[in-house]
Amino acid sequence: MTAPMVRCRQVRKSFGRLEVLRGIDLVIERGQVVCVVGPSGSGKSTLLRCLNHLEEPQAGRIHVDGELIGYEERGGRLRPLPDARLRRQRESIGMVFQRFHLFPHRTALQNVMEGLVAVKGVRVADARKRAGELLDRVGLADRAHHYPAQLSGGQQQRVAIARSLAMSPKLMLFDEPTSALDPELVGEVLEVMKDLAASGMTMIVVTHEMGFAREVGDHLVFMDDGLIIEEGPPREVLAAPAHERTRAFLSKVL
Ligand code: ADP
Ligand code: MG
Repeated sequence: MTAPMVRCRQVRKSFGRLEVLRGIDLVIERGQVVCVVGPSGSGKSTLLRCLNHLEEPQAGRIHVDGELIGYEERGGRLRPLPDARLRRQRESIGMVFQRFHLFPHRTALQNVMEGLVAVKGVRVADARKRAGELLDRVGLADRAHHYPAQLSGGQQQRVAIARSLAMSPKLMLFDEPTSALDPELVGEVLEVMKDLAASGMTMIVVTHEMGFAREVGDHLVFMDDGLIIEEGPPREVLAAPAHERTRAFLSKVL
């Protein structure tokens, strides 16, 4: 039996006295697309950040692809993972944010190549070829030599997705990837994400795009105040939310 792609057990995270995650349990099978929704401040971004150890949980364990994230077990005790191994774990988990964070003085192609050359040590010629293929995959083959400022927000976000994919991640995390976009640019980014899902990528998507959740999501998680209060097949949760808070939230975003 293979391990699920993600397993969170009783993950807790506080900032000072503020408890932001209050015991998150979540299992995600390989190839699943999990959409995470919930009000602002409910802990969605913090959960994603814990998954690649950008935040250190105070309690609980996170396994990705069977591997404990951020720690190693030695002599029955947990120790922080040495930097090099933590970096390798992070490389295998792609993250796409609301803001694209592209290098402004590099072209789309150079942005996608960067990690291949600097992190993976791929030869420049090979990296250029691979980056070109990835830009093609996100529909931007003809924009390879444009700088971020010459691209629309939707195009920049697609470059950011290509850049993440260049690292061959086994899991992709999306934190409100379309929230900063003008409405007419949202569709092109969701389309790329839909293709990625169809290719079998395991994805966690924090989003308010309920159409995407319904159509592409295998599982919908509703978070409120640091807890998962409801989850299930998106169509079922959206059609008949069991929890009053889910109903209240959905009535605002649908
Ligand atoms: P969401 O993504 O669901 O809007 P977040 O995970 O960003 O929620 O934040 C949850 C809560 O944690 C918020 O109250 C936020 O202000 C707080 N928070 C997030 N990051 C930090 C931090 N680095 N330091 C202190 N508080 C934080
Ligand atoms: Mg957030």
